[in-house]
Amino acid sequence: MELCLLGDFQELINSDMNNNDVVFNNIRELLNYLKSESEGSLMAELCSLIGIDSSNKVVYRQMQNRSKDPISYFMIDPYDYLSFINQYKCLAIFHSHLLGCENPSEFDEKTSENCCYPFIIYSVNSEKFFIYEPEYKDYDVNIIQRLKELI
Ligand SMILES: [Zn+2]
Repeated sequence: MELCLLGDFQELINSDMNNNDVVFNNIRELLNYLKSESEGSLMAELCSLIGIDSSNKVVYRQMQNRSKDPISYFMIDPYDYLSFINQYKCLAIFHSHLLGCENPSEFDEKTSENCCYPFIIYSVNSEKFFIYEPEYKDYDVNIIQRLKELI
């Protein structure tokens, strides 16, 4: 009885965790999705983590923007981040810019350098992407290179 309940509970956790993840067949689909999701989020910078799953597919998980000033900044809860990298190999961190262009802020560059993941930025203003790559790279550089060629 107890075991059965625990099993159900575990299933609930798993389904809840995977429900919001979006899986893409190719990276062009991912770019289109980033664009349309950003354009649908005009009250707060959209932020998400992008990873690679066990069958080598690109996965997107939207994060809650926990910044106190979400129109100008984004902040991801460390727990949400850890939960994601526990499940997938991280590829990049994405966020949108509502004000200004697609260029990374000084803070964006520093954060990317510190976490060793690239920052993909989409500006709803200029309708353009920018990909900032850190000096030390802990991700699949080939996929990021292909993304750069598409933007
Ligand atoms: Zn930014």
